[in-house]
Amino acid sequence: MSDIKQDLVIIGAGPGGYAAAFYAADKGLNVTLIDPRENPGGVCLYEGCIPSKALLHAAKLINESKESENWGISFTGMNLDIDKLRSWKDGVVNRLTGGLGLLSKQRKINYIQGKAVFKNNQSLQVTDDDGSESLLEFSNLIIASGSRPVVIPGIDMAHSAVLDSTGALALEDIPEKLLVIGGGYIGLEMGTAYAAFGSNVTVVEMLPKLLPTMDKDLVRTLKKSLTNKFETILLSSKVKSVEDKDGKLDVCFELKDGSEERDLFDKVIVSVGRRPNSDVIGLENTDIECDERGFIKIADSTKTSVENIYAIGDVVGGMMLAHKASHEGFVAVDNILGKDASFNPKAIPAVVFTDPEVAVAGLSEDEAKEKGIAVDVSRFPWAASGRALTMDRTDGMTKIIFEKESGRVLGVGIVGAGAGEMIAEGTLAIEKNMTASEIKHTIHAHPTLSETFMEAGELFFGPATHVYKMRRKF
Ligand code: FAD
Repeated sequence: MSDIKQDLVIIGAGPGGYAAAFYAADKGLNVTLIDPRENPGGVCLYEGCIPSKALLHAAKLINESKESENWGISFTGMNLDIDKLRSWKDGVVNRLTGGLGLLSKQRKINYIQGKAVFKNNQSLQVTDDDGSESLLEFSNLIIASGSRPVVIPGIDMAHSAVLDSTGALALEDIPEKLLVIGGGYIGLEMGTAYAAFGSNVTVVEMLPKLLPTMDKDLVRTLKKSLTNKFETILLSSKVKSVEDKDGKLDVCFELKDGSEERDLFDKVIVSVGRRPNSDVIGLENTDIECDERGFIKIADSTKTSVENIYAIGDVVGGMMLAHKASHEGFVAVDNILGKDASFNPKAIPAVVFTDPEVAVAGLSEDEAKEKGIAVDVSRFPWAASGRALTMDRTDGMTKIIFEKESGRVLGVGIVGAGAGEMIAEGTLAIEKNMTASEIKHTIHAHPTLSETFMEAGELFFGPATHVYKMRRKF
């Protein structure tokens, strides 16, 4: 039994766990942070957000070098040194996770490299990486144990050519023919990177649309671009089996019309969602409740069904994104500090780092319809943006969903190059209850893509400077 009862113990050092730990330590709590890896970072830094964005940055450079042929600049031959690219990507990860390790030490956080399992509502069994075991008592605890990839029954994930997102990010080689199962954001990002590196990519999605939760007009623009980059996109189609055939993978598809088709691939990436790590932490020894899909149930305060235990991040579900996890962590710590905090954002931005990027925040047009909310939608096409033309990137649109009566911004969706950076303005507008008039009257620098946001504000009233539309009748 440990002799010091910690103010706060946190299971998992991903963006939820480490952000909560750093904030709590800065507020004067003594904190123990437990994670199997040498340094904090979790899925996001080791096998998620960061390595994928490093590879996508490389992919973007390759794509741009090809697009520049349209305006007279051509680079002859592309030499991809995969070992160097992999080690650059690993270097980015090591630098960031090493930095977090240092920040953790500077804050005097008791970082335990190991795994934790609940003994009961008040204590944990901790197994260090050297195998030694100890019992840890806590006053308060935050579960931030994250998630792991869903596997498809019947597909042998142990096969060396069948990868999950972690395997895909390891960048072992560039397969000639690659199948990505799953048209969600992770599958499309992986497909985008590998297509740029030279793979012939097929994406198969069970539902009738890529990025199923996003508005179709945003997805349409992305799909048009992906149709040029990928060999095939199969929608409303399922993978029935994946079998080894002389070193290749023989895949049987059930297509939209019910017919079957087979094709051979060098590698398959399975990317069909993520499941919570709630079944590996001994919850059965506690009174903590989960929903039917295994996500830990929490209140707005992030409190679980046990008084002094909180849960945040992917393990509680909702939008499984790094920044959502971190912000839930701050709420949990504030409550531990005695405040009455709740996690109730008006908007959580989500970005798909494909080419073009898709970024959304707040209410979507589809959601507005489902909920019967009267909205007015402005769409500013990037073909009317001077900046987009100078970049030869008119494949974009900035869309704002306004409350019909008040003109208040309820949602924003952007598709286009750099949409992921632009969505911050939309998120701020939603959080701060901004109206079309305020957006229209906020001076934006020219020529920038952000002007499309200002002009989408103008469009609420009728014509915008660069788009003619009949004046709105009030
Ligand atoms: P995690 O980051 O999953 O961390 C949980 C940690 O808990 C892990 O280190 C795990 O080992 C540890 N743990 C589990 N069990 C135990 C135990 N028993 N004891 C101790 N420790 C334990 N999100 C974005 O916002 N932007 C992106 O661009 C983005 N890209 C992604 C790309 C990919 C390929 C993937 C897979 C994910 C991506 N995500 C992205 C999602 C993002 O990584 C997650 O939402 C985020 O990491 C969740 O943070 P978390 O703190 O809840 O958990």
